[in-house]
Amino acid sequence: MEETIAIGTLSVHLTRKRIRNINLRIRPDGTVHVSAPLKTPRSTIMAFVESRRAWIEKSQDKVARQSSVMAVSCKDGDTLWLWGREHTVRILPTHQTGGRAKTSFECREGELLAYVRERDMGDDEESAARRCRALDLWLRMQLSERITALLPHCEEVVGRRASAIRIKAMRSRWGSCNTKTGAISIAVRLVHFDPRCLEMVLYHELCHLIEPNHGARFHALMDGFCPDWHERNALLGGR
Ligand SMILES: [Zn+2]
Repeated sequence: MEETIAIGTLSVHLTRKRIRNINLRIRPDGTVHVSAPLKTPRSTIMAFVESRRAWIEKSQDKVARQSSVMAVSCKDGDTLWLWGREHTVRILPTHQTGGRAKTSFECREGELLAYVRERDMGDDEESAARRCRALDLWLRMQLSERITALLPHCEEVVGRRASAIRIKAMRSRWGSCNTKTGAISIAVRLVHFDPRCLEMVLYHELCHLIEPNHGARFHALMDGFCPDWHERNALLGGR
């Protein structure tokens, strides 16, 4: 017996088996799998998963960190989403010559041009992996520049400042805020979505510097600072 159940923002694959205890594991793709005894009430399973939420999110982030580079594919003809728009990857030889030639990227109408060295042109896995690493760095730069452009206004509106901004490979969250230090982390994959989503996440995390929890007070703050945050959140799949 197998089914998928939603527990808060988590999607959990549940399997019933002739076992004694509830088992929980995170697969390498980040999905959450629970096996439970045949007669355990669903509410018990949900409470069990909820009690492990922090561990689940930590594990998913770890998985995401490990796979972040390869998650972005960089072969000729691949599709890459950048700021909510679809781009086709084109692999081209770099104009630069000599040992210092580096991979560079250029965004054009619907295309992402990757200029690479001769030895990185190939369709083999190693060449593709080298291009992916360069692309990952480039995407982080794009995100970083956009954050630098958006943050001062968000901070002024909210009336709080982040002590530091970190870009991280996070799978289960779009951002996080350390309310003690004021440091904010932003998920690198936000670079794939409409920039209004990044802005919404910046508001969200800055609001945590006023209100740490997601209660009514937090929602009221978000409604005031970023009135269409529901709509922007929906663009991220409601997570
Ligand atoms: Zn939050």
